[in-house]
Parts: sequence; C-alpha cells; structure tokens
Amino acid sequence: MSSVHDVVVVGGGIVGLATAMTLLRRRPGSDVLVLEKEDRPGRHQTGHNSGVIHAGVYYRPGSLKARLCVAGARATREFCDAHDLAYRDTGKLIVATDEAELSRLGALQERASANGLVLERLDADELRGREPEVAGLGALFSPSTGIVDYGEVALVMARQVERLGGEVRLGAEVTGLGESAGRVTVRLARDGEELDAVHAARVVVCAGLQADRLARMAGVDPGVRIVPFRGDYYRLPDHRRGVVGTLVYPVPDPALPFLGVHLTLTMDGGVTAGPNAVQAWAREGYRRWAVDPRDAVDVLRFPGWWRFVRRHLRSGVAEEWDSLRRSAYLARVRRYCPALTVQDLAGYETGVRAQALRADGTMVEDFLAVTTERTVHVLNAPSPAATSALPLGEMIADRVAHLADR
Ligand SMILES: Cc1cc2nc3c(=O)[nH]c(=O)nc-3n(C[C@H](O)[C@H](O)[C@H](O)COP(=O)(O)OP(=O)(O)OC[C@H]3O[C@@H](n4cnc5c(N)ncnc54)[C@H](O)[C@@H]3O)c2cc1C
Repeated sequence: MSSVHDVVVVGGGIVGLATAMTLLRRRPGSDVLVLEKEDRPGRHQTGHNSGVIHAGVYYRPGSLKARLCVAGARATREFCDAHDLAYRDTGKLIVATDEAELSRLGALQERASANGLVLERLDADELRGREPEVAGLGALFSPSTGIVDYGEVALVMARQVERLGGEVRLGAEVTGLGESAGRVTVRLARDGEELDAVHAARVVVCAGLQADRLARMAGVDPGVRIVPFRGDYYRLPDHRRGVVGTLVYPVPDPALPFLGVHLTLTMDGGVTAGPNAVQAWAREGYRRWAVDPRDAVDVLRFPGWWRFVRRHLRSGVAEEWDSLRRSAYLARVRRYCPALTVQDLAGYETGVRAQALRADGTMVEDFLAVTTERTVHVLNAPSPAATSALPLGEMIADRVAHLADR
C-alpha cells in the first residue's frame, strides 16, 4: 500500500502555504505535502495584488475578516522581521471628495475603532499640508497600513514549509479528490498527463480561483460559485514617483464590494493606480481580453451572477466603461489627486479576484470554509486574505485538528 500523508494541502498560494507552515510548526515531524499546479508558488492572486498590509479599517466588527486582518497585519510584519523580508509602514489616507463621502468618514472611523484601530481625522487643510498633491474635503489617516510583496512572502513560506520537513510539489495539478474509509485519494496530473495519485489522512483545499471546482470534484456542494473579477492597474512613470508619500484611497461606496481605485506605493519604489473591478471571463487570464470558454460559460450559466448583475447594473456598466478609456479611469484618480494627467498612466498588470457568490446574487463577504469528514475546503478568501494569511492558516489548522484522523 502506498504511504499516507498526514495532511495534503492543495494550493501553493499564501493561504495554503501559511496553513502548511502552521501544521508543521504545531506537529513537528508530521508529513505535510503541498500540491501546486503552477511552476512556482503564489502565481495567482498572491502574486497579482496591491501588496497592501491592510490595517482592518473596513471590516464588520467581529467578522473573521476584521479579527484576522488586525492579527494578520501584526503577524505579517513579525514574519517579515523573522525572515529578513522587506516591508514598509507607509500609512494610508482615505480621502473624502464630496459631502456624501465626508459624512461617511465618521462611520468608517467608528468601525475602525471597534476593530481596535485609531485613525486620525484630517480636515482639508491638514490633508493638503500632509500630501500637497492630494485634494479633498477631509480624510482619515491610518498609520498602521503598510506594503509588502506577497509573492516574496509566499516564496519564503514555501521554503519554510520545506525547512520544517514538509514538501512543496510544483507542477502537480489536483484532478480528483475522493474520500473513503480512513483516507483521501488525491489524483494528480502534470501538463494533462496523469501522475501517481497520493493519499492523505486529511486534506485542506486552498485553491483560490478554483475553490468551488475542487469542492465539486470532491463531491461537496459548495453552495457558492467563484466569480472572477479583474482588477486593472496602471503605473505612474518614474518622474511621478514622489506624487504621494502614502497610500491614497477613496471613501468606499457601502453599496459596492470593492475598495475603489487607489494610489499604492510598491516595494520597488513605484506608484500604481488601481485596481478597478470588472467582470473577468478567464479565472486565470491576465490580459484584458482574456477569455476562457469554460470559465465564461460557468459565469453565464450561474443564476446568482445574473441576479448580482441586475443589482449592480449601473455601477457595473460604469466600471466597464471606465476600464475601456484611460481618461475615464484617470478621472477617478483625479478626484483626489488632480495633478495627474493621462500621460501619467502607463499600462501595468491585472489581477483576478476570486469572489464567492451565492445563488441569490449576494456576495459572501466574510472568509468561508466548509468541512467534510476529512477535508477542509476554503471557499472564500478574498482581500484582505493576503494580510490575514497567517492567522487564517491558524484557524484552518484548528479545523484540521477536528477532522477524522487515520
Ligand atoms: C487585484 C487584487 C488586489 C488585492 N489586493 C490585496 C491587498 O492589497 N492586500 C491583501 O491582503 N489582499 C489583497 N488581495 C487579496 C489576496 O491577494 C488574496 O486574498 C490571497 O492572495 C488569496 O490567497 P490564496 O492562497 O487563497 O489564493 P491564490 O493565491 O490564488 O492561490 C491558490 C493556489 O491554488 C492553486 N491551485 C488551484 N487549483 C489547483 C489544483 N487543481 N491543483 C493544484 N493547485 C491548484 C493555484 O495555482 C494557486 O497557486 C488582492 C487580490 C487581488 C486579485
């Protein structure tokens, strides 16, 4: 009989790797195998994001997002310190540009306070004094927001998994998951060719954009569909790098799920503008026009998506329109940073968010995992899951501890 691993983790993004690390730390000497279909860890959401160490301002007090983000911001910095990884405490401004936004700053400040954060309130003059190129009627300043390269963090986590005695197997795509008495059989392929299956006492699936498919593959009804939302970024030219010295965000619209186009400092000293949020037609396609027929059909055949679109029709159309025209995209940034011109927006990366949607068209707001006898499926780990990955890994490891053993 082939050997049975203690735990197989599917997905070498930041959540899977943080989970594997935690499992190995808690039970030194245990046999933990991470399976990642790509040729390196962190190729998808973990390697295509804003790189912000979120402080935890926006999330509903008491939610997993709120608790794990606040804990994760601390844990991320500690992890970086312990492994000589660079990060920067940049702080972040949330800028109100009209009366309606100004009136929402108070509620945002209260929410942050309920999450244990202290935000500084600035009036228009104080804002201009702090960031001369940023204009607004008022702002909140979050001193505990920072930046890091999560792709780098994931690479260091993968090395740690191996140092702790685990294995990270790359180019190993999971094509089947079957629970039977005493074990889970995990079928594998590389470049379409079947490899030998592996067996595990317990399995954790952290497959990001493919999470619902892996659940269905295992015979679990996930109850949600992963809908991909693309986020396009622009990069400012080098001579514009000094335009802001901190991260600058608009006040989020409470009716919309994403945070709005922001100016973000990057670890290599650059400044990006983005991301917007438009429908993606390929879960893992990073060109603007990428279409994967299977992914597109999955979206279009999901009644929840049609309900979601009806609910957000107006903002969705505006978002699509602005994504097609650089000048319209720029207008969003110019609301709080009027000095920028269309020449300042150079094409840059896109990212694709995995967002779980219910059949009634509502988004799953919080992190979500479901458990079977031997498997934990992480079904919703959108932003701020990169910030929250370490405590999220702890939470998932707690769930693993309650699964059936051999
Ligand atoms: C545009 C954008 C901006 C964001 N900004 C931020 C931010 O500033 N701060 C923040 O905290 N969060 C941010 N996020 C969110 C954050 O990036 C994600 O929440 C986080 O990376 C999720 O990690 P993950 O490990 O769950 O998913 P992923 O990184 O997507 O990893 C999943 C892994 O599973 C693998 N996989 C899938 N199917 C299989 C299979 N069948 N077999 C083997 N392997 C498989 C994939 O190849 C992938 O490597 C952002 C996300 C996006 C898209």
